[in-house]
Amino acid sequence: QVRWEVARGWGIAELTTDELDVRAQTSFVHYGQAVFEGLRVYFHDVGEVGAFRLYDHHRRLCASARRMALPEPPWEVFFAAVCLFVDAHRAALTKSGDSLYLRPVLLATTETLGITAPITDAVLVVTGLVNFNHMGTDGDGLTIHVERELRRAWPGGGGTAKCAGNYGLARSGQARAQVVGCDDALWLSPSGTVTELSSMNFFAVRDGQLVVPEADDLVLSGITRDSVITLAEDLGISVVNKELPIEELLADLTEGRVSEMFATGTASGVVPIAALCDGDDAYPAAGSTALAKQLAGLLTEIQAGRAADTYGWITLLPNS
Ligand code: PMP
Repeated sequence: QVRWEVARGWGIAELTTDELDVRAQTSFVHYGQAVFEGLRVYFHDVGEVGAFRLYDHHRRLCASARRMALPEPPWEVFFAAVCLFVDAHRAALTKSGDSLYLRPVLLATTETLGITAPITDAVLVVTGLVNFNHMGTDGDGLTIHVERELRRAWPGGGGTAKCAGNYGLARSGQARAQVVGCDDALWLSPSGTVTELSSMNFFAVRDGQLVVPEADDLVLSGITRDSVITLAEDLGISVVNKELPIEELLADLTEGRVSEMFATGTASGVVPIAALCDGDDAYPAAGSTALAKQLAGLLTEIQAGRAADTYGWITLLPNS
């Protein structure tokens, strides 16, 4: 029997979100049982806000929770928490294109120092930002450092979960990227295949095909990635899921076979990657950003409610 607390106070009705009291013996402080989602709701019209792929975010939060032995928040709890936060910040959304970026965070709050004690209490706290743009670029695109020493995920590990520790592990790789003037790290599998960036999925356009690195037990199953694949397929573009050894990608970049690379994520959208940097060597893509821009355009039109939601991706949130 798990007690659900959404932010502060028991039960859903009496809650205030975006506040959290933490006591020193709370289990997530010691054992890292913290998982989260990053999702967006968009201004559609006056009094009308649409959440993008809310069911999929809930499903992924539950999958992350299972991996970290956390209780899965029921849909009703998740939906109520999202609506509370949106209601509190709805006034910030005034025009088409405005969005709230939400972080529902699920924490094990049983107070115990016993590592085997069952988790009987969990908190779902929601926080967020207005019009957050994590790594979007108006410039030539990101430069990405190929991280050859450190790993953020490994077979059987927690790479497919959106758990807090993965981002802690990624921090030192990001720092190494920044030292060499790059924006983020490209993480590799133990066998040297491409996986993803620290908070975005990776794509390459090679010989006209959209190549998605296959590393399913290491990569977060990105909701933007899935959306972009769907949109690309509907444009008639061939999408190839394959294991992508980094040496193969670097050779293809050298030979000019890669017309573009891009990264996808809720916090940044579809972002062109200008070049990979491997040690002292830079490997620029051929310089096109055409497909990234086309997919970004299609996606944002649907998200903002300006194009028909033919895929059933939008949940309109009641104006309470
Ligand atoms: N990979 C990682 C590690 C991430 O943190 C994110 C952001 N959630 C993504 C990929 C992109 O996922 P999504 O498109 O669902 O935001």
